[in-house]
Amino acid sequence: MQRTKFQAMIGGRCPRCRQGKVFMAPWWQVTKFSRMHEHCPHCGLRYEVEPGLFFGAMFISYAISVGIMIGIGVLSFVIFNDPDNIWLYYIIPITVASLVAVPFNFRISRVIMLHLFSGVRYEENLSNRSL
Ligand SMILES: [Zn+2]
Repeated sequence: MQRTKFQAMIGGRCPRCRQGKVFMAPWWQVTKFSRMHEHCPHCGLRYEVEPGLFFGAMFISYAISVGIMIGIGVLSFVIFNDPDNIWLYYIIPITVASLVAVPFNFRISRVIMLHLFSGVRYEENLSNRSL
């Protein structure tokens, strides 16, 4: 099956073959969501194509976190009509949303780093090969 780049990113697939999974466990397994395959199980690509590649994912993760915080803050402001109790309406919801989003944020930032900034190109012939 041919996947678009977007589908491969959402599905956490390899940037070269778009078939092999990047992560070992599904995101909802709280103790295992961060475990990555060292190499693509389908095409054998080493995911950390250069040392410290995923250091850059921290900046993507930071941007996503700030976006979530601002989004929840604005949403709370609009829904509750500028509430006075900042703990109840801003700090607690923002903290909870940020913590709940950790697995998503961690994984999508690494996948974005792999797909957009690692320099690995999609090779269609690899996606059709079965191992
Ligand atoms: Zn692959």
